[in-house]
Amino acid sequence: MDRIAFAAKRAGRDPSSVRLVVVTKTVDAARIREAVAAGAAILGENRVQEAKEKIEALGKIAGWHLIGHLQTNKAKYAVKLFDLIHSVDNLELAQEIDHQAAKIGKVQNVLIEVNIAGEASKAGMAVKEAPGLAAAVARLKNISIRGLMTMPPYSENPEESRPYFSVLRELAETIAKDSLPNVSMQELSMGMSGDFEVAIEEGATLVRVGTAIFGNRG
Ligand SMILES: *Cc1c(COP(=O)(O)O)cnc(C)c1O
Repeated sequence: MDRIAFAAKRAGRDPSSVRLVVVTKTVDAARIREAVAAGAAILGENRVQEAKEKIEALGKIAGWHLIGHLQTNKAKYAVKLFDLIHSVDNLELAQEIDHQAAKIGKVQNVLIEVNIAGEASKAGMAVKEAPGLAAAVARLKNISIRGLMTMPPYSENPEESRPYFSVLRELAETIAKDSLPNVSMQELSMGMSGDFEVAIEEGATLVRVGTAIFGNRG
């Protein structure tokens, strides 16, 4: 997508510092194959069961990321399927991911999902709790925090997302100062079809885009 490169250049950033997660939830296998043939390198799914069926059908044709909420009892499937889990938002889940990853000899890369607006309808942890989670997870051996993820309140106007994106970036800078083992703040997963250009201006390294690529999910 040229729009990603343009937004990066406008913000004075190297376009290669922003990676596109092509969100394939509800998209069938044939269209996913086409997207990969057209250059999609990372595919994002929001449900473990749906992703499992697609990964079994398509194989590792690209990187697979879990972008949706993960229940603790599905961690054992998630560690087998995903290169990056964007949605860790509590210690119990992190501990279970660590435990399941150890069983298969993997270090699972994850992001901490932060609910900046404190919306009751959304997953994610409070801003002030995120550094404590990072410190607790730093002691676990088979899980590695790579950065943060957020989903701002829905708005028609992308500029309304900007303050949430900048809070996420500042939070990552704060956590990075703690220099915790197994914790890096390299990735900021923020920005969707309606607001990814603003997210890139605010420092996103992973943008999660579905509708702008595949059209409305219906
Ligand atoms: C569906 C989804 C997206 C993509 O949303 P679009 O508006 O279709 O680009 C991004 N992130 C998460 C967590 C999602 O569930």
